[in-house]
Amino acid sequence: MTHTEVDSAARRRLAAMLENLSPLPPDPILGTTVACRNDPNPSKVDLGVGVYKDASGNTPVFEAVAEAERRVLADQTTKVYVSPPGDERFIGGITRHLFGADHQVVTDGRVGAVQAPGGSGALRVGAGLLLRAQAHTELWVSTPTWGNHVPLLGAAGLDMQHYPYYDKGAHEIQFDEMVQTLKERGPGDVVLLHGCCHNPCGADLTHEQWDVVGDLADERGFTPYVDLAYHGLGEGMDADAYGVRMLADRLPEMLVSYSASKNFGLYRERTGLAFTVNATAEGAKTDTSQMANIARELYSMPPAHGASIVGEILADEELTTLWQDEVATMRERINGLRALLSDELREATQTTEFDYIAGERGMFSFLGLSPEQVTQLQAEHSVYPIPSSRINIAGVTEENVDYVARSIAAVV
Ligand code: PMP
Repeated sequence: MTHTEVDSAARRRLAAMLENLSPLPPDPILGTTVACRNDPNPSKVDLGVGVYKDASGNTPVFEAVAEAERRVLADQTTKVYVSPPGDERFIGGITRHLFGADHQVVTDGRVGAVQAPGGSGALRVGAGLLLRAQAHTELWVSTPTWGNHVPLLGAAGLDMQHYPYYDKGAHEIQFDEMVQTLKERGPGDVVLLHGCCHNPCGADLTHEQWDVVGDLADERGFTPYVDLAYHGLGEGMDADAYGVRMLADRLPEMLVSYSASKNFGLYRERTGLAFTVNATAEGAKTDTSQMANIARELYSMPPAHGASIVGEILADEELTTLWQDEVATMRERINGLRALLSDELREATQTTEFDYIAGERGMFSFLGLSPEQVTQLQAEHSVYPIPSSRINIAGVTEENVDYVARSIAAVV
């Protein structure tokens, strides 16, 4: 053994820290996509992955985004950091579209905001703010909820708790049970609500149910934290913001995390926003400075590109209209496919069992299948929901809907 070999062998023994780690199994959602990709059946259908797809199965760049991106690149003179709170045109534009330019909290300057790397980054920054305000904070999330809420927000240090939300067998919101749990919450508790297009169940609160939640937050004093990752993909830009606007009207404080991944198609550009509504304008400034400081600790500065594109779109009337039309096209396609799939399932199963799909919103619904039925659907029909039987409606097309419905009917 040479001198160097002895040295490096000794060093390896000393620094064997990473050896303590074991490899992790693949993420179940990504695992479904890989299994589908490797399936040679030409009729295969990927209903797993959580991105929008058009009728050709593509996730295209929005026209408004492509045009804004051209302008951004043509005007760009530097790549220096953006400031910790982020791009002002982006923040101002999303603030107006989310709350409404005339909303009292906007005109009063009671909104705190920082740009963040996607909705995920925004959730994490919001979690940091809650923990700075109160070292031990319970965050109540719906059962079920987006698969990354608990890992992401739990790892941030929040004490994760669960309220009943959706009955997978009956395909109904368990509103009475939800209310019962929220009635037992109080000041210092935080309740995470899906702003629209609930992921993974597709069942959204009605406006009346939102009002009840608003009344409860008001009476009991808990803080709502709204996760809005599909703004415009449910019923429309204004209707989908109902919950946020109503809570902001009624309550002194709340948090919102906003993702531009789906409604601008900017997934990989990591474009999101962490908002607070504060009782005072001064408080909102404090929130912004605290969130910018949390971001500084986590990743220093936000990524610029996606936010500059959104800022460009929202500063231009024509591009804004084009973007809104493109969001409307997505929304109408998803809602049209919901109606189509539930009709086809009615015919294929000769039951009304799947009628609920037409009334749910956003990209996701549960089929309510057992893990064995999902395995059978994948193995025998090459139709790929994720193991929980959650499907992405946007994976269905007018061409494959009949095949998907007959395949599901064959396993139920
Ligand atoms: N919240 C929910 C409910 C989501 O579904 C997602 C994305 N799947 C996010 C947050 C995170 O979005 P982003 O990709 O912008 O981080």
